[in-house]
Amino acid sequence: MAHLHARSFASIHSSTDLSPAAEDYEYEVDHLVIGAGVVGLAIAERLAARGTGSTLLIEKNAAAGQETRQVEERNYPEFAIAMTFAIEPPYTILMLVISLQQPSSRNSEVIHAGLYYPEDSLKTKLCIRGSEMMYDFCAKYNIDHRQVTKWVVGQNESDLEYLENLSRKAHGLLLPTKRFPDPPTFMLTQGEMLAKEPHVSGKAALVSPRTGIVDVHGLMQLLEMKIQDHGGDIVFQCEVTDIERIGGNRSWSITGGTNIDTKKQESHQEHQSLSAHPAGGSGFRVRMNSPAGAMTVKAATVVNSAGLHSDKIYNMLSSTRTTTRESNGSEKPPLQLHYCKGHYYGYSGPSLVSRLIYPVPDKNLTSLGTHLTLDLAGRMRFGPDVLYIDRLDDYTIDPETMGSPSSLETVSKVIQAYLPAIKPTSLYVDYAGIRPKLAGPGESFRDFMIENHDGVVHLVGIESPGLTSSLAIAEYVEKILY
Ligand SMILES: Cc1cc2nc3c(=O)[nH]c(=O)nc-3n(C[C@H](O)[C@H](O)[C@H](O)COP(=O)(O)OP(=O)(O)OC[C@H]3O[C@@H](n4cnc5c(N)ncnc54)[C@H](O)[C@@H]3O)c2cc1C
Repeated sequence: MAHLHARSFASIHSSTDLSPAAEDYEYEVDHLVIGAGVVGLAIAERLAARGTGSTLLIEKNAAAGQETRQVEERNYPEFAIAMTFAIEPPYTILMLVISLQQPSSRNSEVIHAGLYYPEDSLKTKLCIRGSEMMYDFCAKYNIDHRQVTKWVVGQNESDLEYLENLSRKAHGLLLPTKRFPDPPTFMLTQGEMLAKEPHVSGKAALVSPRTGIVDVHGLMQLLEMKIQDHGGDIVFQCEVTDIERIGGNRSWSITGGTNIDTKKQESHQEHQSLSAHPAGGSGFRVRMNSPAGAMTVKAATVVNSAGLHSDKIYNMLSSTRTTTRESNGSEKPPLQLHYCKGHYYGYSGPSLVSRLIYPVPDKNLTSLGTHLTLDLAGRMRFGPDVLYIDRLDDYTIDPETMGSPSSLETVSKVIQAYLPAIKPTSLYVDYAGIRPKLAGPGESFRDFMIENHDGVVHLVGIESPGLTSSLAIAEYVEKILY
């Protein structure tokens, strides 16, 4: 690729010399990654680790991972402090320490095995690959994690048929590997279930021994540090507001993820023949706002990993070409995500199980059902449920509805189907997260969308299992670009 000259980001903000580089760009970079969620961090780390080409990760919030992952009902006044220093390398450590103190959200933190989704989907392939990569990465860098295993519990004949099919599918897909030499799933009868988990009720259970949990904060902090160790830059409190293609070929080369061979754990050969980079002298003009003011970055390649805002970034480059007009005259953007909130419920009593317990999911896989997860301290947590909402910043938990006894009663009935011993009075509404969904209410399954549009790789609809898949997504994006 054509290597662009990267000036130190600090020099842009600190020095009185704000003289622009050639062509009025304040900064030039090879890889510009938008969004420091777990996926953006993994991608930036992967690209920075190449050692060739500069990498810049841009995040509009004051710390990593405050969006698609669940957010607690808190304000973050401390972030102003972080923001002041975040852009100066000598203060980077200070910034990280402050962000460690943030009560930022936790998602289910589940390392999924990749059981549920269609065999050919990116969700399946990247999840299977990602789970293996995640366990290796966590073991190598001492990130807290536990292969705690999971049961999917069936309550009736149709559930059992579903579980048998799921097990057959898993045996075809998840072949034994060095890390996972044992069969990927097996079934337990009701008697076997009772012997291991006396509080769990069901006719039979499918066991997924490869499922685990991970400390997402630990993972993200490590990725942040590694990006900087590799010489990459991360800038917080900086929002991308516009992207424009400059020069080069405007034709799209769209890649769809049909070439990940999860059995051999090697992939993407065809991507290597695709050029992600526009012809010489071209690239992208990316405009952004930061506390230091507006600035423009010239990027050879852009990765749109903006989670709930990824459709807006996508539309910045596509709107002139594909905007359509609705019958009422309003403009319909080329891409529009749906927002699907999930509430979590804590439990004030002692834990009743020692593994993750899931019901059979709904047909469209909108969610995996209100399930029971354990955190790394062994505490039980239930959720997330499913509520399509209009606003992407609506993390409210309405006490009149979600927190009311009647609502908790409804949730406890769902949970009691597989865990009759829970006391409804011990359940409390905890926090909420929002899924960036390509599928609207009642619509059928939609895969991750990862597309290379001639030098900009868009990642849209990266909902669950996005955390599990994050390291594999990074590998995939690198192979799309190189
Ligand atoms: C309720 C729920 C439960 C889940 N449970 C699991 C699970 O157990 N296991 C699993 O594998 N996955 C799970 N997931 C999925 C997983 O959490 C997500 O796939 C993952 O966190 C997505 O990461 P991301 O980096 O793509 O997006 P995000 O975390 O949303 O990060 C995107 C970032 O982009 C930034 N950004 C947006 N626009 C701009 C802009 N214009 N300029 C600069 N920055 C911008 C945002 O501020 C944000 O920080 C769950 C998700 C939800 C919602």
